[in-house]
Amino acid sequence: MELHSLKYEQDERLMRCFGNLDKAKSEVEFAHKKVRYFKDSLNLNNEFSNSAGLNSVPISDKSVYRKNFPAGILSEGSSLKDPYVSRLQSSGTSGERLVSVIHSFKLAERMANCLSINPAFQYLSKVPRIKTCRYAAPNCSDVECANPRSTMQDRILADGTLVLPVYHDLLTTPDSMLRMAFDELHSYEPDLWYVDPMHLSILIKKAKSEGWAFDLDRKFSVLLTYTFATRALLRQISELCAGHAPVASVMAMSEFGFVGLGCEHGNLHLNDKDYFLEFIQMEGTHPDDNLWELVITSIGDRLCPHIRYQTNDIYHLHGACDCGNSMPRVSFLGRSKDLLRLPSGKYITPGSLDEVVGAPKWIDIYQLTEQEVGAYIFRFTGNKDCFSDAEKSQLRQKLQALLETENVRVDDVNYFPFERGGKFQLIRKS
Ligand SMILES: [Zn+2]
Repeated sequence: MELHSLKYEQDERLMRCFGNLDKAKSEVEFAHKKVRYFKDSLNLNNEFSNSAGLNSVPISDKSVYRKNFPAGILSEGSSLKDPYVSRLQSSGTSGERLVSVIHSFKLAERMANCLSINPAFQYLSKVPRIKTCRYAAPNCSDVECANPRSTMQDRILADGTLVLPVYHDLLTTPDSMLRMAFDELHSYEPDLWYVDPMHLSILIKKAKSEGWAFDLDRKFSVLLTYTFATRALLRQISELCAGHAPVASVMAMSEFGFVGLGCEHGNLHLNDKDYFLEFIQMEGTHPDDNLWELVITSIGDRLCPHIRYQTNDIYHLHGACDCGNSMPRVSFLGRSKDLLRLPSGKYITPGSLDEVVGAPKWIDIYQLTEQEVGAYIFRFTGNKDCFSDAEKSQLRQKLQALLETENVRVDDVNYFPFERGGKFQLIRKS
């Protein structure tokens, strides 16, 4: 499974790479020849022609693609006006927002290769025009999803995706908007629910309490994305969908489209056909910590190649998966900005926190807040009927061990603040 295992020479950080290195190097050469930014900034010296070579190329990031958009990062001869050029917009506040352009055939190819990871989703590759309902925090100025008076027609994107109505502060969403989302999820008859697991869980909970029955007889699939799918959220979604609709987490980025998918065993695999994947050991960690930052080089992107693009996503790497798929098996742990570092140097990731919390029936949503170094509050909402004092005190002990301090409070709450733009942080600093 592992094709290359290289030493990262600049700063002695280990790297593990997956995919076709020759194709990645051809991508760099193409960018150097045809893309203005790389033409001006890259110096493909002798080191590049060495067998490893790729790691002599500087790592690029969002700012490169934002500052040089569009003329500096599009290949010579291509234009935003070309038919089949899709524009994807990232979430984030307006100053950080990034517009990415991808050829729609490339987007479809990447999606198909990712869907091939999980047999339950493969039929979607053959659906001529997948009807999708998107239900997630509004990342849009392009659609009026957060306006309670918007109609369904206002929220249908050019590709036929219906964006369900959402409120900026999820937990205070007016009932009328939840009902509208529930109704449209049925009346639009989507093939695919492309959803934020937290948004879907709120809708499931509301439907349960109001006696709204989901129609589970229609064939549809559920892909979870946007925020970290905690075990507690997966439990709630699986209670609704098990035996009716396949559910998997998808790793998607507005810069690339689909990057990976959860397999039938629930393990995430990343696509190493359409991308060259470089996992770089996180600074200040030991290889046994198994914390890796992902850097992606696109393969065969003749419109806007991405060269050693820093994703800021942190992963665990695992060995081969029982599903038999050869694409690398990983766990997504969170974004680098969402990590805490303890005084001992140990990192706490959303993934390591979630492993400790698990999916007890009395927790639906939770959040860990660092009040100051060494002092934490774990807040949760959930089903009070299932609450167990003994389990709560066990959880507190586990959190104390994880966070290396006695100073951990565990509080039952009714509300969580959401970031501007409607994103939820599993770990926050006050
Ligand atoms: Zn697998």
